[in-house]
Amino acid sequence: MTRSEMYRRFRAQTQPWDMIVVGGGATGVGVAIDGATRGYSVLLLEQHDFGKGTSSRSTKLVHGGVRYLEQGNVSLVMEALKERGLLAQNAPHLVRNLGFVVPNYEWWEAPFYGIGLKLYNLLAGKYGFGDSRILSQEETLRLLPNVETGGLRGGVIYFDGQFDDSRLLINLVETAFEQGAALLNYVRVAGFTKDAEGFVNGVHARDMETGNEFTVAAKVVINATGPFTDTVRSQADASVQTMIAPSQGIHLVFDGSFLAGDNAVMVPHTSDGRVLFAIPWHGHTVVGTTDTPIPEATLEPVPMEEEVEFILQTASLYLARKPTRGDVLSVFAGIRPLVRMKDAGSTAALSRDHTIRIENSGIVTICGGKWTTYRHMAEDCVNQAATLARLPEKECVTHHLNIHGFHASSDRFGALRAYGSDAPAIEALMQEDASLTAPLHPALPYTGAEIVWAARHEMARTVEDALARRTRALFLNARAAMEMAPRVADLLARELVRDDAWRTAQLEEFHSVARNYTLTPDASGAV
Ligand SMILES: Cc1cc2nc3c(=O)[nH]c(=O)nc-3n(C[C@H](O)[C@H](O)[C@H](O)COP(=O)(O)OP(=O)(O)OC[C@H]3O[C@@H](n4cnc5c(N)ncnc54)[C@H](O)[C@@H]3O)c2cc1C
Repeated sequence: MTRSEMYRRFRAQTQPWDMIVVGGGATGVGVAIDGATRGYSVLLLEQHDFGKGTSSRSTKLVHGGVRYLEQGNVSLVMEALKERGLLAQNAPHLVRNLGFVVPNYEWWEAPFYGIGLKLYNLLAGKYGFGDSRILSQEETLRLLPNVETGGLRGGVIYFDGQFDDSRLLINLVETAFEQGAALLNYVRVAGFTKDAEGFVNGVHARDMETGNEFTVAAKVVINATGPFTDTVRSQADASVQTMIAPSQGIHLVFDGSFLAGDNAVMVPHTSDGRVLFAIPWHGHTVVGTTDTPIPEATLEPVPMEEEVEFILQTASLYLARKPTRGDVLSVFAGIRPLVRMKDAGSTAALSRDHTIRIENSGIVTICGGKWTTYRHMAEDCVNQAATLARLPEKECVTHHLNIHGFHASSDRFGALRAYGSDAPAIEALMQEDASLTAPLHPALPYTGAEIVWAARHEMARTVEDALARRTRALFLNARAAMEMAPRVADLLARELVRDDAWRTAQLEEFHSVARNYTLTPDASGAV
């Protein structure tokens, strides 16, 4: 899968595309797979890299959402639990079953959460991940060796899914490509063309690498731009009312020793009434998240000081070793594209369900939902878009579609397990060139072979693409990622045939982004 091959497909299409999808996050790429597997011609355009938006910045859970159960949203939970089961079947190399322990410090917590989490598992039916149960104090300590012991009575364990969001997204892009779609990163949709009746029938787009501009025709255009939904809607029709209430969530990443063991901590009620997770991920501990309304979405959201302090303080209540700012290896922020409902107060009350709108301009907008439900969202969206565009009726076939990289026992590939069936090809690169074998930094497992692979087969175009979304270096350890960057720039320059000026500019750009993923030792400096 290369960008030039995508362009070849793009140029070979002489008729209007059946569908143009704007936005290359989980929602848009899911729609591209669904459309392509039904036999429709699909073009997807992403303004930056695939997954640059919210889809690389999640809590990394494939879950039904225990909190939504508490809110009484049983249908949303059941739908998500079913999707969790399908995703585990279709991408077993990326979804793993993880134990979540709710530590109990009050007498009523064990019966209360014990019953709630039994119901959670019951709702999963045949897609269940394992029975929940009440734990003694000793069992809780065995499963969570580093939990705060003062006042600990016991706990409740339940099981949910965990994944690597941007790796799944890249595998989804590959799946859509294998099914015949054309997907271009670094192509921004800047406006729309309309027919005589004023309905959108194509897009104006700009290649952000070359500056080339072009117009492409489509039978239907789908707006899957997440936090940017309203910007794109208003490009098609300046009179639309906004429908998104953007809300930011951040995560702090620590060394794996803060949690120790293979289980996650779930705190069902923080001081501001939200859920907090501390989860083991790629040998590190990820803690989050917050839910802070923000006025406007940006591509590189910046964590706020209050959010950092809130997570540090809350984590300190549950972890025996209290994390400090100095322990933070990376901090990342993402924006929830929550759909505004009339009279909704806080963002916690806004809809987590997905919404599909046929706009007066004729574009189809899809937003909201969760990573976990991307497949189901895509199915709903393509059903509606195909009817609107009068495309021949075709059934959705993604329920049991293997996702690129599918491998039933990818643990055998060790550090390369997340690549699934691609892992042997990366091992072969190492055998061909021994200089690609050693980790690029002592703190992280990533090798030169993975960077070469990302450039040759996964459409990585920049140092940031390679370090943030093909490997997860920036999200795990921002300073280590900065230290790896010069070597990564060398490898990419060789693969993509770029000169010294490109290399220098790349390093500057990467550093200006990566700085936002680090914390100064005390709160006086900017985050
Ligand atoms: C903090 C946080 C934690 C979360 N945790 C979880 C979790 O654990 N599990 C779960 O299931 N869900 C989780 N979610 C929700 C999930 O991440 C989102 O629902 C999902 O990623 C949204 O994907 P999207 O494709 O709609 O948006 P995005 O991923 O933001 O994609 C939209 C894309 O559109 C592109 N775009 C915008 N304008 C244009 C244009 N003009 N032309 C071309 N492209 C354009 C953007 O660059 C962007 O890449 C979490 C969300 C947040 C914020």
